[in-house]
Amino acid sequence: MTGDDCYFTRFLKQRRDEGLLRALTPRNRNLIDFSGNDYLGLAAHPGLKQAVKEAVDSFGVGSGASRLLSGDSEIFHQLEEKTARFKGKPAALVFNSGYQANIGIISALCRNNGVIFLDKLSHASIIDGGFLSGAKFFRFRHNDCEHLQELLNKHRRKFKTALIITESIFSMDGDKAFLADIAGLKEEYDCLFMVDEAHATGIFGSNGAGLVEELGLSCRIDIIMGTFSKALGSFGAYVACSKELKEYFINSARSFIYSTALPPAIIAASNAAIDIVRQEPWRGKVLLDNAKYFRDGLLARGADVRGDSQIVPYIIGDNRQALELSGKLLQKGYWVPAVRPPTVHIGQARVRFSVTSNHSREVLDKLVNIFE
Ligand SMILES: *Cc1c(COP(=O)(O)O)cnc(C)c1O
Repeated sequence: MTGDDCYFTRFLKQRRDEGLLRALTPRNRNLIDFSGNDYLGLAAHPGLKQAVKEAVDSFGVGSGASRLLSGDSEIFHQLEEKTARFKGKPAALVFNSGYQANIGIISALCRNNGVIFLDKLSHASIIDGGFLSGAKFFRFRHNDCEHLQELLNKHRRKFKTALIITESIFSMDGDKAFLADIAGLKEEYDCLFMVDEAHATGIFGSNGAGLVEELGLSCRIDIIMGTFSKALGSFGAYVACSKELKEYFINSARSFIYSTALPPAIIAASNAAIDIVRQEPWRGKVLLDNAKYFRDGLLARGADVRGDSQIVPYIIGDNRQALELSGKLLQKGYWVPAVRPPTVHIGQARVRFSVTSNHSREVLDKLVNIFE
């Protein structure tokens, strides 16, 4: 089991040869960070830190068990009520991470002769939920509602339950889904509709609840999922839905049932983060203004940048060229990751700029001027 015969060795060699090998690099705090998802800088906010310290003093660190055993406490229920109000749904359930939420919910919903229709660019956790469910699934072309309708026409009636899934803001392309159009199709074809707001929560909408809020669609979407780990600066995830679906997930989502509850201090941080976002909605506005300023600057210099949010992808195509650009930016003091297949489609390698509300105009100008 060594040398070229070994599957692991061959796998790694192939990844290396194709410029696709991934490696862990501890974060260098001297670099200007354009890689993270802490879009509002809340991960270091004094309000979150204080909430964590107080909760550790009251509750200790670990939860000690899953919530269905002895890991539940009142603070989880407070966060769930707050999240439900924030998202405009009757109920909410906390999951340990966005990944666990997606695999748990999707596999629970589609287990019984179900079918799933999902956007081709859906996050890996959504796709893995599809695999885990054992349901048949069809992927529609990115943001192509005509293709979705074609697939619905062809396949919907052969199945008892159907679930349509999309992200609201796409994680690697930074563009928006046509949520109102999909809601129309969901109604026409009698499907459940689930939206992943991982990159929209805390940013879009007048209360910062997400793109669903901004478009006034919460009552037409059955399941709104999102994370506390990105713009909210904390950790974990939520599902906002009806009271009945919540009860169903508590009884059927295996990633919820069979995993230790998050530490209470993390729940306290998420509670504080929602309060801050609601009390200070200017944060999201500053962020989106920054992103527009930056994107317009790059466009003016002829760069192939896309998106309509704080995520600004610069499409390169070739894996090695994307790595080279990322390397050049690193030398100049900016941490901008190259994103390569399989995270994005083959031939779509890119560098992905994550703009934050903490980036000053001066920093954005300097970075844009590199592309002169
Ligand atoms: C980050 C992300 C997740 C996973 O969330 P974690 O809390 O990091 O596990 C799920 N869906 C989308 C679209 C994401 O970008």
